[in-house]
Amino acid sequence: MRLSYSALNDYTSCALKYKFRYVDKIKEPKSKEAVFGTLIHSALHFAHSPALVPPTLEETLDFFTRGWNADIWENEDEERAAFTQGVQMLQKYYADNDIAAATIVALESRFQFDIGPEDNRHTISGIIDRIDKTETGYEIIDYKTSKKLPSQAEVDKNLQLTIYARAFLERYPKERDRLDTVTVSLYFLKHGEKISSTRTLEDLARMEEEILAAVADIEAEKFAPHVSPLCDWCGFQRLCPMQKHKFKDEAWDDDDVRAAIDELAALKKKMTADRKKAAELQQQIVQFMKDKKLGRVFGDEAIAALSERTTYSYDVATVREALAPLGKWDDVVRVDGTALSKLLPTLDSDTQHAIEQARSAKTSQTLSLKRSAKQ
Ligand code: SF4
Repeated sequence: MRLSYSALNDYTSCALKYKFRYVDKIKEPKSKEAVFGTLIHSALHFAHSPALVPPTLEETLDFFTRGWNADIWENEDEERAAFTQGVQMLQKYYADNDIAAATIVALESRFQFDIGPEDNRHTISGIIDRIDKTETGYEIIDYKTSKKLPSQAEVDKNLQLTIYARAFLERYPKERDRLDTVTVSLYFLKHGEKISSTRTLEDLARMEEEILAAVADIEAEKFAPHVSPLCDWCGFQRLCPMQKHKFKDEAWDDDDVRAAIDELAALKKKMTADRKKAAELQQQIVQFMKDKKLGRVFGDEAIAALSERTTYSYDVATVREALAPLGKWDDVVRVDGTALSKLLPTLDSDTQHAIEQARSAKTSQTLSLKRSAKQ
């Protein structure tokens, strides 16, 4: 299989979006955010294009202005805000960087490399925004126009940067033994902030395993939708079972089910309020019984009785010591998934990986209710 990084990114963010785009090959208009991002990338490419004298800020802004498409924005206010943001990004970029001093060795550089054993070979491709030669090694940079800044931990695990580090070694195989001198960075243009990291050969090997697992899922046609804030920018909302019902222009014949949802929501709300009220009443009754030293109290329609229940906890090490030699320890121990998922981020990456490999999934269906935006 041939897989670009952006296709892989689509698959990992929402497998159904990947299916619409790459399996069903449904054309979707480019989002305004994507058009904006492409123009900013082109402007930075222009700013760094090889020349005796690099383009000035004014020349780069002129390039940006000439490439601007006013038609994709909803209204004039939105268009003006986006244009201003683009100008500010480029101004900040010029203020923070000495364009002439950059030692760039590759700009918007295409790559491809193969992963997997002979009988399960796949090609990964993509484009690296920029590779610089630094005093100590190299730096691979990817520009981002997004608003949200990730944490350092997220950048350390960022799959895109790991793929880029692997692609870099394809081009510079001699750097394999000096991978710690190769920096991988995400440059957030809106904030003028660069978050950097490095990768190890183990990270690259793990990335291959991750991609092979994704490829196996694609080949097994696992295309489950994943609802996230990214849905708002997804061009397939009118086809997606998780979103299409919200478009009122469809003839859904759904008056009954809409009423059922609202009734269920009202019931759940009442149940929550009832549970809260019951806890308050219970506390009031128990307090009375304790104050008056009573075991039972009598209402007109019911009798409340206070009884004691003892629960036990065990010293885990002692119980394990007693049961393990009998081969019975596993019979009483269950892994607590919730506790494990809280623990997981605190573990080293090898242990995390081992635990993730040990995980198996069982799918069941539950109906959840959430307030809709209009409420
Ligand atoms: S709308 Fe959301 S869930 Fe549906 S395909 Fe797009 S990203 Fe996936």
